[in-house]
Amino acid sequence: MLLLTPADVTMNAYAADKAQALALLAKILSDDGFTAPEYLTGLQNREQQASTYLGQGIAIPHGTPDSRIHIHKTGVRLVHFADGVVWNDDGDKVYLAVAVAAKSDEHLTVLKLLTKALSDDIALLIKSAKTADELIAVMTSTPNSLLVHERFIKTGVAAKDIDELYLTATSLLKSQGVLTALAGTEPKWLRLSKALYAVVIESKTINEPVFSLVTSKNPIKYHKDNVYGLVVVASNYHVDVEKLSSLYDQLMADDFVQTLGVASTKELAVALGAQLNEDWQSMSVILPNAHGLHARPATVLSNIAKEATGEIKVALEQGAYVSAKSLTRLLSLGATKGQRLTFIAQPNTDAVAFLPKLVQAVEEGLGEEIDVKITPILQETLVFESKTVIVDGQKTVATSASGGIADGVAYLSCPMQFSYPMTASDPKEELARLNLAIDDVKEDLKLLVQNATKSSIAQIFTAHIALLEDEEIIHGAKDGIDEGLSAAAAWHAHIEQMAKTQSSVANHLLAQRAADLRDIGQKVLIQLTGQQSSHKPTQPYILVKEDLLPSDVANLDTELVAGILTAVGGASSHSAIVARALGIPAVVGAGMDVLGIQDGVRLLLDGTEGWFVVNPSHELVQACKQRQQELATQKALADAHALEPAITQDGHQVEIAVNIGNVNDTAGAVACGAEAVGLLRTELVFMAHQSVPDIDTQVSDYNKVFDALAGRPLVVRTLDVGGDKPLPYLPLPAEENPFLGVRGIRLSLRQPQLLKNQLIALIRASQGRDLRIMFPMVGRFEEWQAAKAILKEVRQKYTHDNLQVGIMVEVPSVAIMAHRFAKEVDFFSIGTNDLTQYTLAIDRGHSLLSKEADGLHPAVLTLIDQTVKAAHAHGKWVGVCGELAGDKVAVPILIGLGVDELSMSSSSIAMTKALIRQLTQTECQALAKRALTCTTADEVRALA
Ligand code: PEP
Ligand code: MG
Repeated sequence: MLLLTPADVTMNAYAADKAQALALLAKILSDDGFTAPEYLTGLQNREQQASTYLGQGIAIPHGTPDSRIHIHKTGVRLVHFADGVVWNDDGDKVYLAVAVAAKSDEHLTVLKLLTKALSDDIALLIKSAKTADELIAVMTSTPNSLLVHERFIKTGVAAKDIDELYLTATSLLKSQGVLTALAGTEPKWLRLSKALYAVVIESKTINEPVFSLVTSKNPIKYHKDNVYGLVVVASNYHVDVEKLSSLYDQLMADDFVQTLGVASTKELAVALGAQLNEDWQSMSVILPNAHGLHARPATVLSNIAKEATGEIKVALEQGAYVSAKSLTRLLSLGATKGQRLTFIAQPNTDAVAFLPKLVQAVEEGLGEEIDVKITPILQETLVFESKTVIVDGQKTVATSASGGIADGVAYLSCPMQFSYPMTASDPKEELARLNLAIDDVKEDLKLLVQNATKSSIAQIFTAHIALLEDEEIIHGAKDGIDEGLSAAAAWHAHIEQMAKTQSSVANHLLAQRAADLRDIGQKVLIQLTGQQSSHKPTQPYILVKEDLLPSDVANLDTELVAGILTAVGGASSHSAIVARALGIPAVVGAGMDVLGIQDGVRLLLDGTEGWFVVNPSHELVQACKQRQQELATQKALADAHALEPAITQDGHQVEIAVNIGNVNDTAGAVACGAEAVGLLRTELVFMAHQSVPDIDTQVSDYNKVFDALAGRPLVVRTLDVGGDKPLPYLPLPAEENPFLGVRGIRLSLRQPQLLKNQLIALIRASQGRDLRIMFPMVGRFEEWQAAKAILKEVRQKYTHDNLQVGIMVEVPSVAIMAHRFAKEVDFFSIGTNDLTQYTLAIDRGHSLLSKEADGLHPAVLTLIDQTVKAAHAHGKWVGVCGELAGDKVAVPILIGLGVDELSMSSSSIAMTKALIRQLTQTECQALAKRALTCTTADEVRALA
């Protein structure tokens, strides 16, 4: 918050002209220690480029970017010129100069705050201000207001109770950018009449007070009333109380009450005198300017908009629309690089033709030089494009997503094109069509969940059902319908907008969830338009696509689809997970050139090594087939001995455990040879529920695992939410670096009740059976102590005689201080996926870099070595539960380093056991010793 004090203000200054005024401002900034005197040149050059006159008698002089070297610290100074100073060729006089010295983009925030005040007619007040206090009061006062707009009114909601009505209203306010979060506050119900209640939400974060009204389709019983409507006022303590009470009077009138259950949104909006939605056309663009929409580019933008006679408005991301012609309004957006601007144009005016011009101007930098004239999504695509050169008969390397060799003809599946009318005359009818289509898709998805042969597929479609029930998705489309769009047009536009926003987020794993949105989007569009998807070949084929929708994979005929090749996507996308579950070889992120491969040509693909060949030679195909055959024979042999222990030739036994995320997979894993569950990822168990499972539900889940294990040990990891694993119903604030943010134990310690409940459920479910609990993402000793203290408290009431307590080793600090932790823990389980990510500083989900995050890097091996030595010195055991545990090259080295337990996916168990039976511990130790002396991961792999 910009806090202005009288010391920041110079009153009654005099300057004969702008040059003198600038000299005075530079002197004040310099005298007050903000700048060097040379900053004056920056101020002068800036005015040469474009006048800093804002309107209302105010100018905001600031230096050019190159003059920032003369700034010592960021600050502003206000100078009041009682006689005014002529500031531009139009003769506009400045009575208040706000001199800005900003080292980077902080001045955008400064301007945003100042320009808030400019929405009122304050020119006269500024001119006539006598004291600094008076001037500050004018500048910082927020006028009382109350926005009543049709877009905050929603009718005919199918709510079961008043809470649901409240949820609809708050979701509406959130989707319109008025509210951000509700911080769990309990609504205070205010009874306006027997049919109408109101709630006031107060928060300083609300930009402008807003009135919203939702009405219910059917009467809702609340106390003795039949409620039909709920008013929610979002207030920032500056509500225009007079306007609000007159609205209340109107709503409480008997005749109004009668209409509440039946009136349409438009009718209510008209009756309440609300601003009405119009059918405005829109275009969006990402702001490329390095320093955001500061005064100079904003001036260029407003000048273009001013050329139109019709109105043009602009909104930042999901925020409120402001006039694009007003410089102050544009600055008040505070738009920064990479954010989305959406322009809308008044219908039936010349403004519509200005939309493409404005978008082009923004793309070109609004008079400023920009680095690259492309959006973040396109940048990514270009990176992919530049790395692929496809030559017939030669291997092209890309990301391996699902192992195995595939040989077949290429089948290029193009995205579906939909045709539908853009507008419709009856919003009610369109809404009904949309609801029906969504319901139909939900029914289809429920069938897919029921019939899914793999739990990972069922989980994905369960998540899709939840997406289709998400208020915000549906509200967004309904808003488009209310504005006159057809159901298909509104749905398509809204889903595409959401998918684009999602795909531009910094976290690659989350960005890949855009495919899920497009997937449900397409399904609903198929229902709405009645269009059919294209016909697939009848002989074995390799599916080639830009990106895979999860249902593309889940609907695949596994008999016909030999393999999958995609242009974009990473190994950790849902599609890759499903491809792995179905055992379909897949190579992803191969670049846009794969879309140029001709339909019907022969393709050979190795999902294990991550390469493909167009028109492969006969020899290559034969060699691959032979290898495939050998692998199949080895696998059959290994499977036959899967239930026997893994003992090396010289008699050393290694425990082989399984990693699971679905409690129902335990029995299958035991049948595959698992001797324990070495990692139960409980966040995945939570994800199978629509809301936080209560203690009893958790007990029943964990009980299934214990029962299926029949006495074998269960190592459970407490909730590891955050980073790449968001829990939909446990919203976390957006973070710049979620992998370095509130995840794992850091989250649990901030929500201790959640952790307590989980610990209670685990101990209750175990009934004294072999339970081992570990905490994820521990990085500091204090975190371990705090988690241990919570467990201690739980154990006072829920006892267990045979409970082991350990930690995951995923953060290098723990491995480095393993000697300190080893005294206290019962065991360590090394999560090599995260340990590698944090040691090498490579995002494990990065579609380009993740290949380089090799857990066999000597640095990671050194940390494993240290951990094992420290644990064994204190008589504690060590497991590895990251992907490395199932990597055939890594297994001998891990055994050589002394790892006691390896935990992996059930499909790797038999082969790993077979491998161990061929090794000797002594050879493994010698190999590990040599690996520790290597310099690169490749050198280590070459040793094996
Ligand atoms: C790991 O980090 O290695 C691990 C096993 O945990 P997750 O993959 O679930 O983060
Ligand atoms: Mg981990």
